[in-house]
Amino acid sequence: MSYQDYEIVIGLEVHCELKTESKIFCGCTTKFGGDPNTHCCPICTGMPGTLPVLNENVVEYAVRAGLATNCKIAEFSKQDRKNYFYPDLPKAYQVSQFDLPLCYEGEVEIEVNGEVKKVGLTRIHIEEDAGKLLHEAGEGSLVDYNRCGVPLIEIVTEPDMRSPEEVGIFMQKLRSILLYSDVSDCKMNEGSLRCDVNLSVRKKGSTEFGTRTEMKNINSFNFAVKAAEYEAKRQIKTIESGGTIVQETRRWDDVKGVTVSMRSKEEAHDYRYFPEPDLMPIITPKEKIEEIRKSLPEMPDLRKVRYISEYGISPKDADLIVASRNMADYFETAAKASKNAKTVSNWIITEIFSKLNEDQKEEGSIPFKPELLAELVNLIEEDIISNSIGKKVFAQMWETGKSPNTIVEEEGLKQISDDGALIDMAKEVISSNEKVVADYLSGKEQAVQSLMGQMMKKTKGQANPKKVIDILKDILNQMK
Ligand SMILES: [Zn+2]
Repeated sequence: MSYQDYEIVIGLEVHCELKTESKIFCGCTTKFGGDPNTHCCPICTGMPGTLPVLNENVVEYAVRAGLATNCKIAEFSKQDRKNYFYPDLPKAYQVSQFDLPLCYEGEVEIEVNGEVKKVGLTRIHIEEDAGKLLHEAGEGSLVDYNRCGVPLIEIVTEPDMRSPEEVGIFMQKLRSILLYSDVSDCKMNEGSLRCDVNLSVRKKGSTEFGTRTEMKNINSFNFAVKAAEYEAKRQIKTIESGGTIVQETRRWDDVKGVTVSMRSKEEAHDYRYFPEPDLMPIITPKEKIEEIRKSLPEMPDLRKVRYISEYGISPKDADLIVASRNMADYFETAAKASKNAKTVSNWIITEIFSKLNEDQKEEGSIPFKPELLAELVNLIEEDIISNSIGKKVFAQMWETGKSPNTIVEEEGLKQISDDGALIDMAKEVISSNEKVVADYLSGKEQAVQSLMGQMMKKTKGQANPKKVIDILKDILNQMK
């Protein structure tokens, strides 16, 4: 078998919970959690005789997501019933969109091995989420309808991805765009963002698609990549050993690291879609679409280009910073207030990222304002403190939220810039280190490092290292 003879073809269906306050067709809260069946009413539990009313914000959020992903927006759109029986769906149908989705023909740019590639979006439509089944040992299955009627958008891509790696890159990019557009919190651990992976393989050079399988409801980027890797290998192995691929829905089992067959894949006609008679068509006038377009923030791709040209940071650093809107905003405020934007980006990437990682916190939870990071950078730029003292100050800022100026003042951390004091100290160190001095004078330039180490120790790191070296060399060279 040769894995290299095959091309992998992947498309995704991404479900994203919108962050509206109330559900799509009733006034119930969309808050995550709560005791089972406490966030529901007769409408979201599908009681006979109730009528849904569409939440206007759902349309606005979906249009925002559509515009942010370069979609066309339908001025006329409608909702349809998707019929299927499952206990988590009290009406036995889901209100979704069939032939006239709200957004269509979009695209998202991703960067794969340094090359820009476009992933097409077939459509984005709105729909309602289902409830959740809880399987309790000995008690059978219970159902919680709190999530029922929470608004979702489903983002369907073209089969444009060609490797599991591209799936990971695309999902990161999409998450970043959705966060920028402020339509979802994208918390994967709470199910706000989940995806179905559709995958097939074909011999390289072939233009026809192979039979695809679908892996449902994957709630982590990592799992999506792993599921795609496993499934591609499984399909190639099956074909190479003379078997055929069955069109089916499979489940990713993360514990075993395999995909498992669930059921044969449904076709659209299995759902007997028909127009939802209880809801009016959705009319979105051009003016409204333009108004929403104007309200969108600058997207990550554009920010990246601007940060490189305006602040002189490297493309790699810009990528890391613009991935999250919170971090990008933080960087920009700090960069504007500081004397050196590049140093600001260095502090974010080395110190702030690792602290957030260590504390397992999200980008929004930096314990001090960006202006204070700028203040710290300026103290270093103005030679008031050294870089190593800067790190100590930073650690205290993280603990206490205090301003760097206050910390430097309280702890007396100002750099010693009195040349006279440093010269005296240097003379002292030189006279008590005869052997090191002899080494230096005989040509071992490195020896000066040991003298400098002692100076830094004496000054508790508060001397300017460059100045210390200069002073030491001055005195030593006079001894030659
Ligand atoms: Zn309700």
